[in-house]
Amino acid sequence: MTQLIAMQGGYRLLPFRFMRLGGQSSREILVTTDTGEYIFLSEEQLRALVDRQLRPGTALYKDLLARHFIYEPDGHDPLPEMAAQYLSRKDFLKQGPALHLFVTTLRCNHTCQYCQVSRAPLGGAGHDMSEMDARHAVSRMFESSSDVLTVEFQGGEPLLAFPRIRQIVEEVVERNSREKRNVQFVITSTLHHLDESILDFAATHRIQFSTSLDGPAALHNANRPTPTRDAYERTVEGIHRVRARLGTDAVSALTTLTARSLEQPEAIIDEYVRQGLSSISLRPLSPYGFATKSAQRLAYPMARYLAFYHRALDYLLALNSQGTYLVESYTALLLNNVLTPFSSGYVDLRSPLGAGLGALVYNYDGDVYPSDEARMLVEMGEKGLRLGNVQQPLHELLASPAMQLLLASGVAETLPGCNDCALVPYCGSDPIEHYARQGDPVGHRAFSAFCQKNMELLRHLFVLLRDGSEETQRILLSWLSRRSLADVSLPGYRG
Ligand code: SF4
Repeated sequence: MTQLIAMQGGYRLLPFRFMRLGGQSSREILVTTDTGEYIFLSEEQLRALVDRQLRPGTALYKDLLARHFIYEPDGHDPLPEMAAQYLSRKDFLKQGPALHLFVTTLRCNHTCQYCQVSRAPLGGAGHDMSEMDARHAVSRMFESSSDVLTVEFQGGEPLLAFPRIRQIVEEVVERNSREKRNVQFVITSTLHHLDESILDFAATHRIQFSTSLDGPAALHNANRPTPTRDAYERTVEGIHRVRARLGTDAVSALTTLTARSLEQPEAIIDEYVRQGLSSISLRPLSPYGFATKSAQRLAYPMARYLAFYHRALDYLLALNSQGTYLVESYTALLLNNVLTPFSSGYVDLRSPLGAGLGALVYNYDGDVYPSDEARMLVEMGEKGLRLGNVQQPLHELLASPAMQLLLASGVAETLPGCNDCALVPYCGSDPIEHYARQGDPVGHRAFSAFCQKNMELLRHLFVLLRDGSEETQRILLSWLSRRSLADVSLPGYRG
C-alpha cells in the first residue's frame, strides 16, 4: 500500500492508496482516494496508471478522471469538488457531541462474568447518580452544538434507578421546549424490571429500548447468570411487552459474543429470526470489564471471531435471499462508509475519533468520560481517560488533558500503518481501544485487534462488492438503506 503523487507530464495523479484484495478476480487491486472513491484494477492497469500510460478517451481513463484519481492540468479543476466531498465525509466534525450516555446506576441483578467491573450488587449503596449530578449532566448536554441529541441510559441496569431516568427525561423535555433540538431517548436494559408505569412513561416520551439477547436460552442464560437463572425468559418477555405497548420497532437487541457463542452463529441468528428482530449486531467481546480469570475463559483471539463472522455472514446472506430480512449492523455501518459520500457517524469508525467529540458518558458518580470503554478502564484502575466532572463546562471537558491525549492519536490518516492503508477512508482510529489493549493510544497496527477486525471485514466486503452475485449485492444494498429486498434495484455500481 503506497500513496503516490505523480510529478511530471501528461495527466497528473491525485493522491490515492492501494492494496491487494485477493479473491478470484483479475481486478485484484483496490485503489481508494481520501474522499472515499474506490476502483478495482488489475496489476497492469495500476502500472499503466502510475506510469501515465493510460490513453485518454478510454472508459477506464474517463472513470479515473471522473472519480478524481487523475486530473488534466489544462482541464477541469478537481479540487473544489474534492474539497466538497471531503467536507461531506467529515461532516460530523461540524457538530458537537450528539450521543450522551447517562449511567444512572451501576447496580444490576445480573452477574455476567464479562462485566465484573461495570456493575454493583443489586442492593449496593453509593452507586446511583445524584439528582444534582443529573441536572448538571443535562446542562452539559445542551452545551453541545449538535442539532441531534441522543440521550441513552446505561448501567448497570438503568431501570433500577428509574426515578433518575424520569427526572432527566422531564428536564430534557422542558429545556428542549426552548432549544428545539431533535432529541431521542434510548434505555439500554435487560427489560427485567419493566412495569406499566415505565411503559406509560416510555409511550409518552417515545423512548426506545435496546436490550441484550445473546442467542437461544441456554447460551443467553450461561452468559448472563441471575439468581433465578431465567435471564433469557425475562428478557424475551420484556421484548414482547415493549412491542405490545410501544410498537414493533421500539426495541432492538445486541449480542455479546463469548467464546462459547462462536461455536453457534446459526443458532444465534435463528434466535433473532424467531424473535422477529430486523437487525443483529455481531460484535466481538471488548477488552474492558473483565476480571483476569474470566478473561482467560471468555476471551478469544480475533482470528476466531473473524472465522465466526464469515460463517455468520454467509448464513445471513442465505437467509436474506430466502426472504428473511435481518441486517448485521456493523456490516451496514461499514457499507455506509464505503457506498455513500457520508460517514455513518458511528463513534468507533470516525477519524478524528468519535469518543468525546461525538459522544460523552456521564458516570453515576458525576465524572465525565469520552466513552463507555474509557469509563470501564477507570473502574479497572486506569484513571488517565477521565475528562472531568459534570460541574465543569463542556468546553473545559473537551479541552482536558485526557481529550488532548486522545486527539493527538485520534486522526487515523496520521497514524503509522493507517496513513498508507487503502481502507482508511472507511475506518477509524479508536485510541481508547489501543490504550486499553496496548497501553498506548497510538498503538501498533500490526498487533491491533481493532485493525485486524476492520481490515478483514472491509476486505471481505470489497470482495463481495466486486465478485458477489447480483443477489448478494442487492442484499447488501438493502442493508445499507434498511429496506426490504423487494424494494432494492441495483444501480450503476461504483468499482
Ligand atoms: S486500523 Fe487497520 S484497517 Fe483501519 S485504516 Fe488503520 S491500518 Fe487500515
